Amino acid sequence: MIRPLVMKFGGTSVAGAAAMSGVARIVSGSAAGSRPILVVVSAMSGVTNALLAASAAARDGGAGSVERHMAEIESRHLTVVNQLFGVTPAAHDLTREVARTCAELRGVLTSVAILQELTPRGADRVTAAGELLSSRMFAALLNGSGARAEWIDPRRAVVTDASFGAALPDLAATSVAAAREIGPAWKAGQIAVTGGFVGATAEGITTTLGRGGSDVSAAVFGSALDAEEIQIWTDVDGMLTADPRVIADAQPVSRLSFDEAAELAYFGAKVLHPSTILPAVEKNIPVRILNTMRPDSPGSLITADGGVDGRPLTAIACKRNVTVVNVTSTRMLHAHGFLHKVFEVFARHATSVDVVTTSEVSVSMTLDDDSRIEAIERDLAGFGSVQVERGMAIVSAVGDNLRTDPSSAVSVIAALGRLPLRMVSQAASRRNVTVVLSDADVPAAMTRLHAAFFSMSEVGR
Ligand code: ADP
Ligand code: ASP
Ligand code: MG
Repeated sequence: MIRPLVMKFGGTSVAGAAAMSGVARIVSGSAAGSRPILVVVSAMSGVTNALLAASAAARDGGAGSVERHMAEIESRHLTVVNQLFGVTPAAHDLTREVARTCAELRGVLTSVAILQELTPRGADRVTAAGELLSSRMFAALLNGSGARAEWIDPRRAVVTDASFGAALPDLAATSVAAAREIGPAWKAGQIAVTGGFVGATAEGITTTLGRGGSDVSAAVFGSALDAEEIQIWTDVDGMLTADPRVIADAQPVSRLSFDEAAELAYFGAKVLHPSTILPAVEKNIPVRILNTMRPDSPGSLITADGGVDGRPLTAIACKRNVTVVNVTSTRMLHAHGFLHKVFEVFARHATSVDVVTTSEVSVSMTLDDDSRIEAIERDLAGFGSVQVERGMAIVSAVGDNLRTDPSSAVSVIAALGRLPLRMVSQAASRRNVTVVLSDADVPAAMTRLHAAFFSMSEVGR
């Protein structure tokens, strides 16, 4: 049997009528062969944020502002339906579907407002609507443009645990469910279309996979359906040598390894959700990052082997506005179990730590999410003196070749010149050199690193 292709399109790729039509052309082009295709779409860009804003407004009792958000969400979808379908039976069905979904959301938000409590479960019920609507609209668009498509309900195809807001897919259960839901459409020669980001527990309660989770959906489907390739279609030319919002002339990296991509995603390359890589690695499924606005550009191909050339670095990533926590204690000297106790505090407050460095008397850690910092600080106070520094950032230089060429790590630090570094780390994998510095120094640090390793003569490999 020909192995399927999973094509995921992000929020900007389906932001409006023109963008969706472009995606329909790309998908129809790929479907010209006989390969089974699953299209996974995000919510139209901005919709998840608007749904979250409506939920927060409901929790805070602002009925007027809930309705303002809902009216905007509803009219945005209706406008696109109208632009895409005019006066057709599809337009009629979708208009009804948008109205039905929005009425249901208004019902949920009314109960949130009455209780003035937004549970993670309630929030998932609301935010899932963005992908449910965009995917139905896209399936109808494909059908109207000559292709044959079938909408797949992600709540029936992706089985997750009950960690609302950041649910973990159950790969074994999803394999069974996805094959059951999608198999008949493929047998009938149809393109399957579903929404990313959304799943449900085994009991059928709607869950979401966390922000940026449509990438995770694509990878989970890819693994569950044993895809030939997972394509992540977005608004840039691939994995770039640096975050283009910081380095304007960042260049696409044509090939990279799963390990490099995982490090880059973990340290802030938003183009790929960090959890995306894992299911792909386990089944050795290549991941390709492509640009919806420039479908002919080659993009980036991520495989087990990655690039074969001798470049010292593959790319640099940055994670901005992180918080550093320092614990200093003379009791750490020769004490066993000290780090265990410190990390237990973070685990208790469900807060993950990204970078860690230690000296004989202190340990420094970075946190992406510092929402529970006060409680953490209180609990850590028992171990020594605690300092919390906000407005810091992580800059990470990544490349498989750092492992074989020790001079590259030295060059990374040298390129940063006299910028004050708060932490420096190189993990045992030696695939990255990571520094923590003031967020204000990120543009300078990235510019210097990029100039040192990716000047125009360096790129083009
Ligand atoms: P989508 O909505 O398609 O999922 P995202 O906004 O989640 O898109 O991710 C794409 C964005 O990731 C790009 O527009 C870019 O600003 C950002 N980005 C950060 N670092 C990188 C990088 N190294 N390579 C490419 N894009 C990056
Ligand atoms: N729509 C969701 C978000 O904005 C998921 C995604 O786009 O990947 O986070
Ligand atoms: Mg994304």
